[in-house]
Amino acid sequence: MIKLPSEPFKVTYVDDNDPFVSNAVKERKHFEPCWCGSGKKYKKCHMLREQEKPYSIGKIQNLQGKIFWKKRGCMHPSASPEVCRGKVIDSHTIQRKGPLERIINTTNHVMHFEANSTDGGVNVAEIGWRKASVFPGFCSYHDSTLFDPIEQGGFSGEHEHCVLHAFRNICNEYYRKKALIESFEFQRTCLDRGLNLDRQISTQNSCIKSIAGQNKSLDEMSNIRNKFEAAIAQDNYDAFESKCYFFKGRLDVVSSSVFQCEFDFLGNKLIDMWDLSLDADMLSHSVVDTDDGGAIVFVWLKGAKDANTVIDSFDNLPDVEKCDIFIQYCFVNCENTFFSEQWWTGLSQKQQALIQQYANTLYYEGGKYSANKDKLVNWVII
Ligand SMILES: [Zn+2]
Ligand SMILES: [Zn+2]
Repeated sequence: MIKLPSEPFKVTYVDDNDPFVSNAVKERKHFEPCWCGSGKKYKKCHMLREQEKPYSIGKIQNLQGKIFWKKRGCMHPSASPEVCRGKVIDSHTIQRKGPLERIINTTNHVMHFEANSTDGGVNVAEIGWRKASVFPGFCSYHDSTLFDPIEQGGFSGEHEHCVLHAFRNICNEYYRKKALIESFEFQRTCLDRGLNLDRQISTQNSCIKSIAGQNKSLDEMSNIRNKFEAAIAQDNYDAFESKCYFFKGRLDVVSSSVFQCEFDFLGNKLIDMWDLSLDADMLSHSVVDTDDGGAIVFVWLKGAKDANTVIDSFDNLPDVEKCDIFIQYCFVNCENTFFSEQWWTGLSQKQQALIQQYANTLYYEGGKYSANKDKLVNWVII
């Protein structure tokens, strides 16, 4: 079974004078709207919540998993019942034939970190390469036609190919963000079963704040996704910038995702993510394979100031440090990071503990990245 991504859930405390609290404690009639903002009548929502039997963690996870991974239709710019062919299939955000194939073991498994439900941390686990890095994003026809140029192999850094990699990352993140919001909405309906009113209020308030934050980044993602769609429809990719760092060496770690540019590689804070009036820039990264190694590919929107700052801070790192720091960046920020068993077992215990620590980081709170003396990968920038 595919594990849910671990996502930080920010607990926010509500002041007693907050209108949300005064509204919640106010007496209300059965048929009045509930204080929690669900839109339901009070009697169908929170009236008897304190007496409701709490769900087990297993039940919550099971229901949430179904909501998270449900198919949400083909995400191709020209998707429609007339054009789409075949079912919505699991698309690989990291190409299977290529980077993933490079890191499989003898039983066709790759390694990654997966959330463990007992202590909320992460553990190294293996996963079949067919299941690694997938999301149900496109119908089979669109998945193969859209990404055909990058599935043929022989990556040479062509701008259009870089943008296609980034588009797939955006679609994956968009899908996950939407799924996450829907699972938070689900949590609102059951996380506070059996709790007293005080704790119901703080649970609901935390859920509402988290959903608002996620909706904000979904909007930002939607804006950038529209720009990708326009580029693909017009076959003109000038709205984007791409930068590739080719390296020689064994491709042991692969990763791809899109992040909001909150910090640069020097640890400078670029934007306050909790300020919902600000738009964060997006930066996509992918690791692709080449004949004698691979390439780190960054894509961002032309003119995006903070994304430029992040790229400049990476570009200014000494070449000998770039790959080690990039690997740290992947483990710290990105669940969509996979690695070979051979590489993992070849690391020292100290290195394994360090990587485990990176992967356990729920909130990256800034700080300058610095390269390890014993480099994590043998990649040499060319
Ligand atoms: Zn309610
Ligand atoms: Zn389609």
